[in-house]
Amino acid sequence: MQALLSSFRACRVVAFDADDTLWDNQMHYRKAESDWASVLAPFGSREELSAALYEIETANMAELGYGTKAFFMSLIQTALKVGGDRLTAAHTGRILDIARELLRNPATPLPGVEETLSKISRSARYKTVLLTKGDPLEQELKIERSGLGKYFDFIDIVSAKTVREYNAIFSKYGISPSEFLMVGNSFKSDIAPVLELGGYAVHIPYHLLWEHEVMEEYEHPNLLKITTFSLLQDILP
Ligand SMILES: [Mg+2]
Repeated sequence: MQALLSSFRACRVVAFDADDTLWDNQMHYRKAESDWASVLAPFGSREELSAALYEIETANMAELGYGTKAFFMSLIQTALKVGGDRLTAAHTGRILDIARELLRNPATPLPGVEETLSKISRSARYKTVLLTKGDPLEQELKIERSGLGKYFDFIDIVSAKTVREYNAIFSKYGISPSEFLMVGNSFKSDIAPVLELGGYAVHIPYHLLWEHEVMEEYEHPNLLKITTFSLLQDILP
């Protein structure tokens, strides 16, 4: 544990995931999906609708990427599939309202996040980066609403978080993987690719996980799993 903490503290760049690490995201999506299923209740059970949506979202991902606008297209496409000609302008209008509400996620910082980031950002030891994937404008607006932007030296919004994007980050900041620490809630996006490249990671699971982010988790000598963001104050003095 001491060796791992020393390695963390020797990192030059500490990057933070945003959705479900700094603020709630998945719970807003779950609510939107539930409201959407209520609108479409005449056309199928909650389970049938969710299964149809999952399939369409998966098929759309390569072309649409992540974010509310992509989700909205999948909601409409699924509605058309299950409702057919019975889908009315009123149904469509309600789905549009649900998506718009989702787009206005207040991005309120999770407990302890602001205080912790403020301390870490004051340390001369690390450069702090906010590293999030999704629609650039949507993510920028959430960062603005969260009020957390001031705690980061740099902000990077990427379309995916795989080894390819992490390698690009290392080049951009002129660091080796062993000088990089990633903090995030998604094992698949924030942890596994970084470990694979030889970087360090802190995993802070969120109580809800998007089905598309589910993967088998494992232990690793470069990885620390913690329960709450505030613990980072002691980990990264
Ligand atoms: Mg996340």
